Amino acid sequence: MRMPLKQMLDLGLYIRRKRRAGEKYFPLVLMLEPLHACNLACVGCGRIVEYKDTIRDQMPLEEALASAEEAGAPIVSICGGEPLMYKHIVPLTNGLMAQKRHVMICTNALLLERFVKQVPPNPYLSFNIHLDGMRQTHDRLVDRPGVFDVCVRMIKLLKSRGYRVQTNSTIYRETSEEEVEELIRFLGELGVDGMLLTPGYHYQVLQNDIYLSKEEMPRKFKRVRDLALDYKIINTPIYLDYLIGERDLLCSPWTTVTRNPRGWKGPCYLITNGHYRSFAELHQATDWEFYRTKQDVRCRDCKLHSGFEGTVALEFGKSFKDSWRMMRHYLA
Ligand code: SF4
Repeated sequence: MRMPLKQMLDLGLYIRRKRRAGEKYFPLVLMLEPLHACNLACVGCGRIVEYKDTIRDQMPLEEALASAEEAGAPIVSICGGEPLMYKHIVPLTNGLMAQKRHVMICTNALLLERFVKQVPPNPYLSFNIHLDGMRQTHDRLVDRPGVFDVCVRMIKLLKSRGYRVQTNSTIYRETSEEEVEELIRFLGELGVDGMLLTPGYHYQVLQNDIYLSKEEMPRKFKRVRDLALDYKIINTPIYLDYLIGERDLLCSPWTTVTRNPRGWKGPCYLITNGHYRSFAELHQATDWEFYRTKQDVRCRDCKLHSGFEGTVALEFGKSFKDSWRMMRHYLA
């Protein structure tokens, strides 16, 4: 299965509960960024640029745990920065699992060995290893030789010890379709439990030209959609149709909310209008319908998975054909 059954069930029950309570704008995933410091300086990373003035800040543990309670989302993705550099990463992970949240640690893998000595496998825990291409491409994008080999070694270590491991690959302009296919086949052989492949985000703070244009996206993601029949690609087929340009989707930025040392970032993971002191303030300050219908100029070329996969999750059950495709995809 591409997503743990318990996670799927918990997510489904949570959505039903929220709908019954009459709520419309509720989060499915909390992107918890307890720090923005990193031990790499990846070419496509907007965080280390946007937060350079607060790069040394770390969120107090109590605040990080309380923000998960405040959002209430069943899935918490601990990211950053490099989350394994966070001084409270072990108690934070254990605390979130004690809250019965599905915890995903998004990491560049460099500090993993130390972490796994302290936190054993748990059905609520998974790792999301950042891997943007094969050796030459990945090491160039993270600007350090040898990182690809560390990732591979850590994936093998995690799998041998019984952890759930996914990968997260950003596809940039320079990554050829052939390399995307090579990477998917390679990760399949390594036995990863899931692979997420997304187009590079055009962060508002970055000016470089490494991102896929609308015209370049369909060819690369058509290949991904074909390979999703045989490999554990976790992008939903509906989102892949959207990346290929065969259907349109509205955005649901409230489904993935971001909390970092400066507060609740809004309106979405990608663009920043401000940081708010509380989750309630973020909601009050954001016109969700405006962003849902992609009226902001910054939404023009955006295909960010968190905004659009959220839409797919909320639409589940509305179309028999789409729901059947989704079921077949996840149960395969
Ligand atoms: S379309 Fe993109 S930039 Fe606009 S709100 Fe959605 S995720 Fe954010």
